[in-house]
Amino acid sequence: MNFKQNFINGEWLPSHTGNTRDIINPFNQEVVAQATESDETDTISAIAAAREAFDEGEWCRTSATERAKKLHTITALIEQDKEELAKLETLDTGKTIEESRSDMEDIAGVFRFYAELTDKHGGELINSPVPNTISKVVYEPVGVCGQITPWNYPLLQASWKLAPALAAGNTLIMKPSEITPLTTVKLFELMEEAKLPKGVVNLVLGKGDTVGAELSANHDIDLISFTGGMNTGKKIMQSASSNVKKLALELGGKNPNIIFADADFDIAVDQALHAVFFHAGQICSAGTRLIIEEKIHDAFVQALVERVKNITLGNGFDASTQMGPLISKTHLNKVIQYVEDGKKEGATVAVGGQQPDNPNLQHGFFYLPTVLTNCTSNMRVVQDEGFGPVITVETFTTEQEAIQLANDSIYGLSGGVWTKDIAKAERCVSKMRMGTVWINDYNVYFPHAPWGGFKQSGIGRELGKAGLEEYQEVKHVYHNLQPDALNWF
Ligand code: NAD
Repeated sequence: MNFKQNFINGEWLPSHTGNTRDIINPFNQEVVAQATESDETDTISAIAAAREAFDEGEWCRTSATERAKKLHTITALIEQDKEELAKLETLDTGKTIEESRSDMEDIAGVFRFYAELTDKHGGELINSPVPNTISKVVYEPVGVCGQITPWNYPLLQASWKLAPALAAGNTLIMKPSEITPLTTVKLFELMEEAKLPKGVVNLVLGKGDTVGAELSANHDIDLISFTGGMNTGKKIMQSASSNVKKLALELGGKNPNIIFADADFDIAVDQALHAVFFHAGQICSAGTRLIIEEKIHDAFVQALVERVKNITLGNGFDASTQMGPLISKTHLNKVIQYVEDGKKEGATVAVGGQQPDNPNLQHGFFYLPTVLTNCTSNMRVVQDEGFGPVITVETFTTEQEAIQLANDSIYGLSGGVWTKDIAKAERCVSKMRMGTVWINDYNVYFPHAPWGGFKQSGIGRELGKAGLEEYQEVKHVYHNLQPDALNWF
């Protein structure tokens, strides 16, 4: 059996506990690998390695050009092994192989983007108001970074953290989700092949309440970057406060998708489906709250339901599969309960609302794509992040009402607006309280643009220039070329 280990100070090591965990394929519950199950002691060793590599090592002192070269090498290695990486991701998460392949292209793109950016993002001279002085701003690495990732986009989320942290000259300890570590382990093998100095990148496999909690609380960590659920984010924020760590949180979303009657109907239906059912709705930016102008509600829901009935569920490796399973039994039960609660609150199941009865899917964690109508903003099913293939439908009659419904959430990650009226679209967007808003599109992102949430969807930004700056300290250097006594005292 394939056995996955920690990578600490340049060595592959099992946890001192000797404990292991089975890694399961969510399509059929087969054990596909075993991973070492670490605890606080392993985490402390990894932190010590990263601390020493930062304080004594050369990585943070290399030129941006040198670091860019390493990132280009990692990019090339990812591209070389992208098919193997894609297969591992599908095995581990159940997502379709087509999606995993596109994730790998994106991941290589993230490393390439930061390789190019770090070389350009230098310091700058300030116009000093004091004669005979030089005033400049320089960017330095923050230090030792703890990075914690979720299971829905295991390697993509890891790349959003690893590439900018390395580009900025930090050292790091990464903890992937304990249920989906496979591609992250493979990427660490590639980073080993790229010959990063010892201790710069460290990997610890294990659970959140041990490994993750230690990373959040340990005083040798200077920055913690977390992607995951809101409640976990709140705990991390609390423990990170003990030494005022820099903090980056990418949390959940409950994202509105507003459809005006003047939108291109067929495209809006097609994209509303993609917005919510892609990766079985297990996407932080999934367009789970459909907000439709009342006069097209019936036609829109009818078209949606017809298309939903034709979605093919199955093994992510089959070319015909459009939607894979949910990640785990626990998560499936959460989604089942979420829909049952919605029904009790008065929502109507227009399609789906149960597990499939297809005998070929009985060993996987499948749930049918589901449309819930008759929903209102005060329902839990409209407010809570279900993180499954479930869309709720609300209606509006005025533009103001559409915006009010869209903003009626504790989250503020992303949202969409569909209309042919450009001025109306821009008016809406300017009032929507979200980190990303798409007009006549949905779920598009690329490394050049920042990603992150308003409100309780998080703190800070990943991707773009902002994503690099998260990993940099800004230092002002003031140099007096003609020092003189002040004679003040
Ligand atoms: P989760 O919060 O359960 O776990 C995320 C990570 O945190 C895992 O590695 C887990 O082991 C770790 N963890 C758990 N408890 C911890 C603790 N006490 N201290 C430190 N670490 C701990 O989330 P999940 O179920 O893996 O992922 C789904 C969530 O991630 C959803 O809410 C989704 O919206 C969010 N997400 C957000 C983004 C974004 O960009 N905003 C992207 C992807 C996923």
